[in-house]
Amino acid sequence: MSSNFDVIIIGGGLFGSFTGLFLARSGKRVALLERGLVGAQSSGANFGGLRLQGRSPEQYPLSLMAQGHWENFDGLIGEGCEYDRNGMVYFASSEASRDRLLKYASSSRACGLEIEIWEGDEVRRQLPWLTGSGLTASYSPRCAVANPRITTPAVVRAMTRAGGQLFEGTEVVGIDQGQTSFTVSTPNRPPMTAPVLVNAAGGWAGTICEQFGEPVPLFSAGPPQFVTEPMPYVLKPSVYAIEGDMIIRQTSRGNFIFAGYPRTLANDDGRHTFVPPQKTLNGMRAVGTHVPGFRNAEVIRVWSGVEGYLPDMLPAIGASQTTAGLYHAFGGSGGGFQIAPAVGECLALEICGKKAPVDLSPYSIGRFRSSVEASDKLMREFDPASSSR
Ligand SMILES: Cc1cc2nc3c(=O)[nH]c(=O)nc-3n(C[C@H](O)[C@H](O)[C@H](O)COP(=O)(O)OP(=O)(O)OC[C@H]3O[C@@H](n4cnc5c(N)ncnc54)[C@H](O)[C@@H]3O)c2cc1C
Repeated sequence: MSSNFDVIIIGGGLFGSFTGLFLARSGKRVALLERGLVGAQSSGANFGGLRLQGRSPEQYPLSLMAQGHWENFDGLIGEGCEYDRNGMVYFASSEASRDRLLKYASSSRACGLEIEIWEGDEVRRQLPWLTGSGLTASYSPRCAVANPRITTPAVVRAMTRAGGQLFEGTEVVGIDQGQTSFTVSTPNRPPMTAPVLVNAAGGWAGTICEQFGEPVPLFSAGPPQFVTEPMPYVLKPSVYAIEGDMIIRQTSRGNFIFAGYPRTLANDDGRHTFVPPQKTLNGMRAVGTHVPGFRNAEVIRVWSGVEGYLPDMLPAIGASQTTAGLYHAFGGSGGGFQIAPAVGECLALEICGKKAPVDLSPYSIGRFRSSVEASDKLMREFDPASSSR
């Protein structure tokens, strides 16, 4: 087996896998290197939300392009991902959060998203199990969910059918830059060489950036996730409290999956994010407050994941500013599952010297040459004092 490729991709999460798929379909000889198993980190541990509402305006072109691919996932990939266009609701229970909800709704509409606003009795009619008076809600019918556990392996199978090669259990431990190519070392395989290298290493991408002289303020964290025993099926859309204390959806099998902020920092080994028991209790309490019917539901599993966050909550996508042939795709910042198909296609086009249909300049790694302001959303949803213990 040759160890010379056109492109080596480090990281078999959804960013790396979709990039590999589109490159392989363009005829490139691709090697996808994954330390563990594909989709076993953030891309497999996430909530599965294909959320369009509440994105920052600059992210909509990428997000809408990606949703088109999710809607045609079976056609694109050749197998399913349990995609379900279930719709999504934000609800607000105070005046201040209502203002935020209406602001999100108008910025989503300005970017082409269909949003319905429900007030008072209409909220009651649509969501009869939700408590509280004076509720306002925004409903986006195009939002959806998919099953993260099965998605990345399916994309990688499509990549290998297109001629790309997958190397699991293969950790990149060294990168040497020659005149025209990169040579990548791993503990278990001969060195591999390619003129193009893609850094799609998720929460671990920062060390590669540093090696090539473009450090980024990336940190790893994850929101706690909980799943209940199966219960009677009553909830079609995903429902998010705009205050962030409850995000809930029900699977077709009846289990409720819910999540709550603040996010928690990954623990020191960088490979896990624990869910402190107190967060499980807080999460249960929040759900019980909003949805009394679930107060007695049994939580059967809790988990989180290691996700790379950048302070402006935008990913880094595109060419390195210091090193010819190096490209980045990381920093999903809590929303990377949804945008991943568009990230992969745009990056593959750029690598092939073609123009991406979406302007990638807001995602340039060059923005970190000066200090980048932390987004309001990050400040609300992340408690820097929270550690995983
Ligand atoms: C609990 C949780 C819930 C979330 N919910 C949602 C949601 O509902 N909707 C949404 O859109 N997003 C959500 N996200 C975010 C989303 O999961 C991520 O943004 C997205 O999956 C990032 O994909 P990735 O490919 O960049 O990273 P990852 O999936 O983390 O993949 C990076 C891969 O690189 C590999 N790697 C790292 N270093 C090396 C190396 N040296 N050599 C070889 N391999 C290496 C890792 O093993 C890993 O598999 C959530 C995240 C978490 C943690």
